[in-house]
Amino acid sequence: MKHYLCTMIEMQNIIENAKNIVITTHKGPDGDAIGSSLALYHLLKQLDKNVSVIVPDPFPDFLHWMEGAGQIICFDKNQEQAEKLIDAAEVIFSLDYNALNRIGDMGSVIEKATGIKVMIDHHQDTQGFAQHYFVDTDCCSTAQLVYEFIHKINKEQLLNKTIATCIYCGIMTDTGSFRYPSTTADTHRIIAHLIECGAENSLIHQEVYDNNTTDRLKLLGYALSNKMNVFENHHLAYIALSLKELNDFNFKKGDTEGLVNYPLFIKGIKLSILLTEKEDGIRISFRSKNEVYVNKIAQQHFGGGGHVYAAGGFSALSLEETIKKLEEILLK
Ligand code: MN
Repeated sequence: MKHYLCTMIEMQNIIENAKNIVITTHKGPDGDAIGSSLALYHLLKQLDKNVSVIVPDPFPDFLHWMEGAGQIICFDKNQEQAEKLIDAAEVIFSLDYNALNRIGDMGSVIEKATGIKVMIDHHQDTQGFAQHYFVDTDCCSTAQLVYEFIHKINKEQLLNKTIATCIYCGIMTDTGSFRYPSTTADTHRIIAHLIECGAENSLIHQEVYDNNTTDRLKLLGYALSNKMNVFENHHLAYIALSLKELNDFNFKKGDTEGLVNYPLFIKGIKLSILLTEKEDGIRISFRSKNEVYVNKIAQQHFGGGGHVYAAGGFSALSLEETIKKLEEILLK
């Protein structure tokens, strides 16, 4: 579903009249969050804006190669600086998130900020905290929406190699390398154009995917060999990793990224769940396919949400209790 609640003339004027612009994205930033944010950052830089990208918390190493990544400000680490920039911004972009609870402590700062808020996002259930929405819940990625946004505001002539690379990375990571159902003919046409603009597709794949530590690959092996519970009759599987197990493999942020997809590689499995124990509770990721929808499960039982085939939630119970709760819901 598309909600283009701003006219593009209006949008052009908003950008033209702003000097200070802040781009924000969600907690636990992924390739789409960072890719779309940096793409917009590089575009606005070319328009001579004072622009900053602010993320709630750190993003994984495999995204640090992107141009501009070194300039990203982490709210967790530089709260004072981040708050000053947010307060001074005439325009605040919210990229790849639909609700203020997706940005942690930064939420209250954005809420009371006086800048014009513009959401560019593709998640379901848009929450109304912004003034302008460029939202398409059928779109595969926010990065693709940024590409469309650049065209809508008539700035496609500024689409250079750097911007194309960031958008490519966002689309690639959010579509599982162009394989999820949200990948359309339009997506492929856009990708073709990004390559024409200079995006080096093979290099981007290498930077993102051939960038593992030995520990990370061993954790993957351990999780699949020792921790994967497969319920073939129910077409589902889950992997649960305790804090201790993660620490045994020198866990670093991003190390379990993508792990939740592996059980779906088993023939007949349509629903996969990854539970990872954190200091404050259990993070739960859901992935599914073939008309098994997970956003409702995440929302109803684990205070989360997301897309129909990819969602996340949280549990304050212990890992064992969370597994029990999950089994009670799914194996009945
Ligand atoms: Mn996304």
